[in-house]
Amino acid sequence: MTAEDVPNWQAETLAVRAGYDPASAGNSAKPPIYMTSTFAYASARQAKAIHEAYFDGTGPEVGRPGHIYSRLGHPGLDMVEARLAALDGAEGAAVFNSGMATHTAIAIAHVRPGDSVVFSRPIYGGTNGLYTGLMPEFGVGHAEFCDGCDRASIQTAVDEALAQGPLKLIVIETPANPTAAIVDIALVVQIAATVGAQTGLRPLVVVDNTLLGPLMQRPIELGADLCMTSLTKYCGGHSDLLAGGVSGKEKLIAPLRLLRTTLGSHLDPYTSWLMLRSMETVHLRVERAMTNARTVAEFLQDHPKVAGITYLGFLVQGTPQRAVYDRQCKAAGSTFSFAVVGGEAEAFRFLDRLRLLRFAVSLGGSETLITHPATTTHYAISQQERAAGGITDATLRLSVGIEHIDDLLADLAQALAAV
Ligand code: PLP
Repeated sequence: MTAEDVPNWQAETLAVRAGYDPASAGNSAKPPIYMTSTFAYASARQAKAIHEAYFDGTGPEVGRPGHIYSRLGHPGLDMVEARLAALDGAEGAAVFNSGMATHTAIAIAHVRPGDSVVFSRPIYGGTNGLYTGLMPEFGVGHAEFCDGCDRASIQTAVDEALAQGPLKLIVIETPANPTAAIVDIALVVQIAATVGAQTGLRPLVVVDNTLLGPLMQRPIELGADLCMTSLTKYCGGHSDLLAGGVSGKEKLIAPLRLLRTTLGSHLDPYTSWLMLRSMETVHLRVERAMTNARTVAEFLQDHPKVAGITYLGFLVQGTPQRAVYDRQCKAAGSTFSFAVVGGEAEAFRFLDRLRLLRFAVSLGGSETLITHPATTTHYAISQQERAAGGITDATLRLSVGIEHIDDLLADLAQALAAV
C-alpha cells in the first residue's frame, strides 16, 4: 500500500491500516514476519533488473516488491516505512535499528569536512555526542541556541555556524528531552530559507519529534525537511525494542535508505513486525498517558516539595512559548521534568523511595519511567551545557505511563514525603 493508495484517513486509522495489503501475503489479515536474510530471484534476468531498480531507480522492477538481502530492505521494513510516512504525512520514510542510527545516517548523508551544523539545546545526550564529539573529529563545526522561540538567539547561532563553514543542517529537538523546551519549527524553517537566499545553500531543517511523536506533532506540515523519531519511545511503546525513523520528501529519504545499506543499520524483520503491531495502538496509549500526565502534573505543581515543573500544558498564555505550542503541538504529551526542593541528595532520596515508578532511562513506554538526567541520560554533557538547557541536579524527568492514576499519585506522594 503506497501513500497514494491511502484515502483521507485519520492518523488513528492509518496507524492500523497503512503499509500492509493482505493480497501481498496470501490474504493473511495481519502481516507475517519475513524471517529471512536473503531473497530468491525468479531468474537471472529478474536478478539484474532488481539490482538495477535498487541501485539506479530504473528498469522494469521499479515499484515492484523485489528484494535482495535483508540489510538492503525486506517486506517488514517496507511496511513500517509506509506506515510511518502515512502517520507523519510525508512522501516517504526510512527506518533504522535505533533513533541514534537514524540521527547518524542523517549526519553522514549531509555533512562533510568544513561544513557546519546548528542545533537546539537542550538536546538528547546521544545527539549532543554526535555533533559535539564525533562530527568535529571529521572537521564539522557546530553552534547551538537555547531559546528556540527567539529569532535573535537562533540567528546568532546560525551566524556563528556560517563563520565556520557552509551550514548544512539545523537540528532541533522540540519539545526537548528532558525539559520539554519548545523550538518554533516555522521560525527555523524561515531562517533556513533566508540562509539559502543569502548564501545559495539552504540548510535542511531536521526535527527530532521523539517527545510528542507522530500523533501529537507533524513537523513535515510545518515545513521541516526531515522528521526524525526515536520509535523506541511512543511508537514502540512497551520499552521492549529499539528503532528509529525519518520521514520527508522521497528525494531526501531514498539516499538515506541506500546509506543504511552501507551502515548496516536496518530494522530486523522481527522488530519490524513488533513495531507494526505497536503502531496500531499508539494513539490509545498516548491518550491515556496524557490524561494521567495532566493529573500527575497538577499534583506535582501544588506539592510543597516540588520547586518547579515543565509540563507543556502549564505554558502561560501570552508568552512566546505558549503561542508556538498552540501553533505546532496538538497536545502536551506525557513526558516532562520537575525539580524537587533541594539538589542531588534530595532527588536521590526521592528516587530510592519509589515503589511503582520505574527508575530507568527511556520514555514513552506503557509503564511510568523516571530518571535523573544529570547523572544518567545527560551525564556525558558538561554541567555548563546542562545548566544552559535548564537541567539541574534537582531535575527529574518523568515519562507518565498508562497505569491507574491513583497508584501513580500514591507512589509519588509517599516518595516525596522522603525528600
Ligand atoms: N532523540 C531523543 C529526543 C531521545 O530521547 C532519544 C533517546 O532517548 C533518541 C533521540 C535516541 O533514540 P534511540 O534510543 O532509539 O537510539
